[in-house]
Amino acid sequence: MVTSASIGFKQTARPLLVYILGWGRSGSSVLANILGSMPGCASLGEVRYLWDRGVVENGICGCGAAFSECEFWPTLPLGDSHLGIVDTERARALVKSIGSGARHSQIPGLHIDAARAAYFERNRADLDLLMELYTAAFEKSGGRVLVDASKSPFFALNLMHPDRPFDVAFLHLVRDPRAVLHSWKKTKPRTDSSEDQLFPRYSSVRSLLQWALLNSRCERFAQLAPDLYCQIRFEDFVDNWQTALLSGAGDLFEPVSHGATPGDARAAIVHAQHSISGNPSRFNLGEVTLKPDTSWSDAITRMDRALAAIICGPVARRYGYCMR
Ligand SMILES: [Zn+2]
Repeated sequence: MVTSASIGFKQTARPLLVYILGWGRSGSSVLANILGSMPGCASLGEVRYLWDRGVVENGICGCGAAFSECEFWPTLPLGDSHLGIVDTERARALVKSIGSGARHSQIPGLHIDAARAAYFERNRADLDLLMELYTAAFEKSGGRVLVDASKSPFFALNLMHPDRPFDVAFLHLVRDPRAVLHSWKKTKPRTDSSEDQLFPRYSSVRSLLQWALLNSRCERFAQLAPDLYCQIRFEDFVDNWQTALLSGAGDLFEPVSHGATPGDARAAIVHAQHSISGNPSRFNLGEVTLKPDTSWSDAITRMDRALAAIICGPVARRYGYCMR
């Protein structure tokens, strides 16, 4: 496989699932595509949407096929059945128990041992199915590393399963809250749905509050699983993605001899991934050149800047963002 990377994932004794943590519009789709294009790796996209946007809505996979026509997903097992014939009611139940519908109200206190234990006990059967699904995805992809770009800290909790048959690493991706705010205010069509749909739009206050809250919750994995947690900034990734990965997540990567060193630090070769959901950028394949997004700087209002400083300032400073 041709790759533009001069770095790749380190060899590990067990298969490795890299889970991208973060808030929406932080650039996780392009990060997942680049990681998934490394040798021995594949991206699954946002697995937390597998049941609703995949099974129920029959959305477009990153390979370009509808979910039901994709050569990867429909044959993966779900208990005695498989994803291609699972009935809609069962899929909807999984959305609520362990999927995108499992919210904070169901999982109070990510960092509280008793709360996590109660969540695992309540959903043990469904979580066992999820572990089997990931295991089958490793086998079918043939890779030793899989990427899950779900981002949600709630879905990430599923990966703290005590009988998890693979290793996991939590890669927390953060982006300037002002750039994220600008992105959430844009009208953006969904290109992964068979129906005409738009991505949701959030007000400035909602976007900023969610940014501060979600990133803080993602940081809890630094305490929950300190050996498994690493962090990178999207701006550093765009500037020089290989340096950013080595700097922020150096335990995961090493130099590889079979890649070609790219002449441009922002260039990468991206292969199609069987990715569930995500930003339309996941369909950008071939040689991709990352571009710094500074359009927000002229576009957002003085009021938005002030709100960002007030709402996100304390958290943003931890990541090195100057909010003045
Ligand atoms: Zn596919």
